[in-house]
Amino acid sequence: MTSRRKFIQQTTAGAAALTIPFNVPAKTFRPMTDPGALVLSTWNFGLKANEEAWKVLKADGRALDAVCAGVKIPEADPKVTSVGYGGLPDRDGRVTLDSCVMDEFGNAGSVCAIEHIMHPSSVARLVMEKTPHVILVGEGALQFAIDQGFKKENLLTPESEQAWKNWLKTGDYKPINWENNHDTIGMIAIDSKGNLSGCCTTSGLAYKMHGRVGDSPIIGAGLFVDNEVGAATATGNGEYVIKVAGTAMIVELMRQGKSPVEACHEVVMRVAKKFPDKVKDIQTAFIAINKHGEYGGYALRKGFQYAHYNTEGFGLSDSEFFAE
Ligand code: ASP
Repeated sequence: MTSRRKFIQQTTAGAAALTIPFNVPAKTFRPMTDPGALVLSTWNFGLKANEEAWKVLKADGRALDAVCAGVKIPEADPKVTSVGYGGLPDRDGRVTLDSCVMDEFGNAGSVCAIEHIMHPSSVARLVMEKTPHVILVGEGALQFAIDQGFKKENLLTPESEQAWKNWLKTGDYKPINWENNHDTIGMIAIDSKGNLSGCCTTSGLAYKMHGRVGDSPIIGAGLFVDNEVGAATATGNGEYVIKVAGTAMIVELMRQGKSPVEACHEVVMRVAKKFPDKVKDIQTAFIAINKHGEYGGYALRKGFQYAHYNTEGFGLSDSEFFAE
């Protein structure tokens, strides 16, 4: 039997472990004079997007401008059926888009479930720059976009309409498995001045419930940037990214000294531990950069790739993963 004395000792030890050492100065990161620019983005369509972003970074442009330019490539590409124009619709046949941006000053902007606008990332940036708010949703986001001069467009291509009609034949109103049903572009960059920014943009899970919003436009879930520490972005089943506060957590783990890969791994493992029964059906993947220009990614499931571009050239890496 645990004696009262032993119990008190254990409790005291536990409490001591939790005590926040207020007298210890926060870890400071070396200011970088020339960290070397780098852009990192999710999936293989990140290659083309990075190329565009790199043009900005190579010319000593701002990381925010780089990521905003880069993600517009898949947003406008009808062959990328998970982002922007040509994105697969929700179960009611409506293309609803989610996007957010975050800059080196900690400013953020987001639009959720916006329809008819090909570049939701550009609207998210204007929410950040022109309003006192962070998030606009649905009709309000569309209204704002139109007021800012954006054109209303039909984003449903004949191909994505046909895919939706095929799904309707068997669709049981559950989002389908991630393997045929994903891919957000999350892009993070560090510029030649050592500043970080990021952008995330998606049409979300195909055939989702109308009004469903995933992690991608949620600051701290799909994207987080802290210019003192690093940046992270996510892809996969957004519900699980949100439940572990994915990217905010990764940045905090990097602040505590973990490398980008270690931090991504730790957060993926939280998903695996909390939701073991879901691992076989979902994907959750993260990429991260730290202030020193180190980068990496980690995924719950095999198959995730991320694209990178820096002064040494460009490439696509197969991510390490937890399960096949
Ligand atoms: N994370 C996105 C969402 O849940 C989807 C994806 O990245 O595949 O909406």
